[in-house]
Amino acid sequence: MNCFYHPTQPAVGQCKYCQRGLCSDCAAIVDDVLACQNRHEDEVHKLEQLTARNLFQSKRVGSVYMRNATFYGLVGVAFAGFGLWQLKWLGLQAALFIALGAFLLYAAIANYLEGRKYK
Ligand SMILES: [Zn+2]
Ligand SMILES: [Zn+2]
Repeated sequence: MNCFYHPTQPAVGQCKYCQRGLCSDCAAIVDDVLACQNRHEDEVHKLEQLTARNLFQSKRVGSVYMRNATFYGLVGVAFAGFGLWQLKWLGLQAALFIALGAFLLYAAIANYLEGRKYK
């Protein structure tokens, strides 16, 4: 591949924005990737910022799901445990605690599975 702007010069890389070949005179380095000098430097910078922000956001969303999963899991185990422990004395009321605990554990698993999608 040759430089798009200098067809006689061999290209050293491609512009991330327009994918044209660039020789060492035309290539500008923006955020560690190549861009057409004085032409697509801003565009490439914006592209890189967008990618970085998306990565950051999906990581954050994933960790929120994981945190919820841990929280629901712990509370669910506590409720279910309390229900089982009190079952002899409280009867139906204890069964409600167990049902609530089971529901929270279900929510924990759902959050965990959702959070794994963002890894
Ligand atoms: Zn370009
Ligand atoms: Zn060139």
